[in-house]
Amino acid sequence: LVSRKWRVRPTVLDLGDGVRIGEGNLTLAAGPCSIESEPQMELIMQHLVDNDVRIMRGGVFKPRSSPYSFRGLGMEGLKLFHQMARARGIKIITEVMQVSQVEEMHDYVDVFQVGARNTQNFNLLDALGGVDKPVMIKRGISGTLEELLSSAEYVFSGGNEKLILCERGIRTFETASRNTLDLNAVPILKEKTHLPVIVDPSHGIGIREYVPSMALAGVMAGADGIIYEAHEKPEEAASDGAQTLNFQESERLIRNLRKVYALR
Ligand code: PEP
Ligand code: MN
Repeated sequence: LVSRKWRVRPTVLDLGDGVRIGEGNLTLAAGPCSIESEPQMELIMQHLVDNDVRIMRGGVFKPRSSPYSFRGLGMEGLKLFHQMARARGIKIITEVMQVSQVEEMHDYVDVFQVGARNTQNFNLLDALGGVDKPVMIKRGISGTLEELLSSAEYVFSGGNEKLILCERGIRTFETASRNTLDLNAVPILKEKTHLPVIVDPSHGIGIREYVPSMALAGVMAGADGIIYEAHEKPEEAASDGAQTLNFQESERLIRNLRKVYALR
């Protein structure tokens, strides 16, 4: 069902208020790895509005490698996130970690994110097949493209055709970067599937200085959009600060992404 053989026409998702994801639109989604506080959200939302970025990414349920790391503000944070985003015309993408959260989160999100650690959580994929909201599935930490497409097939065959795929880097033998951003995935996925393909250069390389160039490369490789981490003070971010852009860097990247997209 997710194959181009089944549907030739590219899927374009309409989030409302003129926000569309898929062929013909450059989707930009930025924001902190974790939602931290009301003042933090206020600042990042102003940054997004100033730069006409319509989607904010921010985690409230965080899958952390260590149980002692900050694990997110949970539903309380999401409700505030939603209230503030609505008032500013911003759409929300945030991670859902388990089946029981799907219903709880439903009314407060615009796009459900399935994280790399949950790409093959088939019960979660089944649950998301039953909702009427877009779902962005990240590539598994050591996942093949075929496995990513199979995960999408779970949701699609369950009845939810509103899907986005995300290349976020994979684990390889290379240790110089957090992950190895696999840009090969972009043209291959674009050929195999009609679904929109987004690149996450932040988790893909994990090093702030290199995030902008990898984002631009992602667009040139044919991605329909970029999702990246931005924070007013990355050094103080509750998670993933080392790969997070400050507002100056983010603004410059947005400008360059639009220029490069226009060249395609
Ligand atoms: C995230 O987007 O903050 C995240 C945890 O990403 P991933 O699932 O790709 O590691
Ligand atoms: Mn992160």
